[in-house]
Amino acid sequence: MNALEREIRALIETQGPISVSRYMALCLAHPEYGYYVTRDPFGAGGDFTTAPEISQMFGELIGIWCAEVWRLMGAPARIVLVEAGPGRGTLMKDALRAAKVLPGFLDAVELHLIETSPLLQERQREMLHGVVPSIAWHGEANTLPDDAPLLAIGNEFIDALPVDQFEKKAGRWHERKVGLGIDFAFGLDAALLPDFEKSLPDRLTPAPDGAVFERRALGPVTGILSRIEKNGGAALFVDYGHAESGFGDTLQAVRGHDYAEPLETPGEADLTAQVDFEALAALANKNVRAIGPVSQREFLGQLGIEARADILRRNAKDEMRAEITISLERLIGPAPGMGEMFKALAFAHKDLPPLPGFDGAKVSGKI
Ligand code: SAH
Repeated sequence: MNALEREIRALIETQGPISVSRYMALCLAHPEYGYYVTRDPFGAGGDFTTAPEISQMFGELIGIWCAEVWRLMGAPARIVLVEAGPGRGTLMKDALRAAKVLPGFLDAVELHLIETSPLLQERQREMLHGVVPSIAWHGEANTLPDDAPLLAIGNEFIDALPVDQFEKKAGRWHERKVGLGIDFAFGLDAALLPDFEKSLPDRLTPAPDGAVFERRALGPVTGILSRIEKNGGAALFVDYGHAESGFGDTLQAVRGHDYAEPLETPGEADLTAQVDFEALAALANKNVRAIGPVSQREFLGQLGIEARADILRRNAKDEMRAEITISLERLIGPAPGMGEMFKALAFAHKDLPPLPGFDGAKVSGKI
């Protein structure tokens, strides 16, 4: 039994079963034993590989997206550039290198990173050394500056934000909790949630028995959106998930590039749940629009990933050429590629013109 398991056991023994979000938060971010606090999980030798670790093309295109949105904003002299959950800092490094094509952008950038893990903050510091004059780290969005326009990006950030789960049983809704049998086990809280079904999209009601619904606290996103509402700007989130709200238990543990049991060896596997893009887009209001989601294939395609791959291939040695083609397929191809399962959603202040990468995308938040 690992130390975190002992601690969670003691917690449940004294307080009773804990919510799924509490369990997830402890596994990922416990100050001593949390998954992201104790390791750098990315890449072939780690637990999973993210898009920026697959190819430089991903970060480069997002860098150009940022610079172009800054230009559409009227090229303000100061822009707060935020990345939520930067991992190793690879995306930001590639982004800032590529964004040099737009004169003036880097001079305007003030870089702010939202990262809870001290170990990953250190990784980011090393990766971005010499790229920008200074970096400010934040444990949450509420301490970001709110006196300048803001551009925010986050890749596979939202999937790591804890979810709560609810289940309908014998016609009534209960919260799912993590309790103790011999090992940790999911169970239903005895309390009834009589109004729960009313909070679901009409389309999903009446819900069938056995339905599970997940709900995520999106505090870091609202912190970013309130700043965009006040000072202008935009945000881009890329993640895996479903375009429309639906039923299903999507809590997933990944360890050593393989699925693991979410309730086993807490803190030693990555724990995520799919992003509900309909719920995310619902954060839009009359001043900040939500645009999308569009598939990662569509988004990167519109930004010109095929042309970028051609240029890289032309300049590459033979053995690298095949690598570039494989990376491209992983980023935009159908499953097992990321092209359909991963999606991009942007938020933009209402004064901004249409954003690159989102031609033909659904817009919500207009009155
Ligand atoms: N964007 C990176 C890493 C994705 S993993 C990439 O694409 O490779 C998730 C990242 O979010 C990690 O850096 C993790 O430490 C960070 N993170 C997870 N939950 C967080 C939270 N609640 N607040 C701030 N950072 C968080």
